[in-house]
Order: sequence, then structure tokens, then C-alpha cells
Amino acid sequence: MSTSIDYHALLQTAIAEARQGLAEGGIPIGAALYHQDGRLLGCGHNRRVQEGDPSVHGETDAFRKAGRQRRYRDTIMVTTLAPCWYCSGLVRQFNIGTVVVGESVTFQGGIDWLRESGVEVVDLHDQECIDLLGGYIRANPEVWNEDIGED
Ligand SMILES: [Zn+2]
Repeated sequence: MSTSIDYHALLQTAIAEARQGLAEGGIPIGAALYHQDGRLLGCGHNRRVQEGDPSVHGETDAFRKAGRQRRYRDTIMVTTLAPCWYCSGLVRQFNIGTVVVGESVTFQGGIDWLRESGVEVVDLHDQECIDLLGGYIRANPEVWNEDIGED
């Protein structure tokens, strides 16, 4: 069951993706889609800046890299930051059973809505995730506002 899974270990994959994004000059948000049996299905990171594509969020990138899956109920979306509405919608659309977020301090996204919808949401409140994105936003506030759709 999900309670036996070391979510902090899974989060390291998402953090590595976020750091890769930062190294590429992009927004440091990463994600990974795991099966509950521990298999990594796909991982990715936000590439708005790198590819000029506002639809490539960490979660959507990981989801696409995972390819076609028969079902998602037994999968875990692990992300360094609480998923935005767009990515929360993806979780709902495909019935992803569990969402693990590195932090929701910087941005809360749709996690309350996901919880109300029966999705198991685990917030690890990870300081590394908070510092990584926080540092980027302080240096690039306009890119961040663009990413979350704020003027
Ligand atoms: Zn998103």
C-alpha cells in the first residue's frame, strides 16, 4: 500500500528534474510519475523558457514521458510544487490516485480541490523545494507570474 512507500525518496527524482531545468535556464519545477510498486514510469520538468511552450509543466512532461498506461489509479504523481489547476485537472481526468508535493508554500494550486475529490495528497513541506523555486522567483518574478497566469 501507499503507506509503505518512501515519498521522500521519490521526491528526489522530481528535485533532480527541477535542478536540470534550472541548469537549462528554466523554471525549477520537476515531477515524476511512479507506479505504487515503485516503478518510475516517467519524469520531466517545466520547459516554458527552454521551448517557449507554456503547456510543458513538470507534471505534463512526466505524464507524457510515461507514455500510455492502462490505468492511473495505482500511480503517484510526485512534483516539487503543488500542481496548478491545469495539472490538477490532468490528475482528475486520468484518476491518478496519489499526488505527492514537495511544497505548497510558494503556490497552493489545486490541492484542496484534489483532496475534496478523493485524491490522496501528501505534502512533504520540503525545504529544498521551497528554497529552489523561491530563489528562482526572487531573481525572475516576471517569468513566474507568466507561468501561473498572473498579470
Ligand atoms: Zn501545472
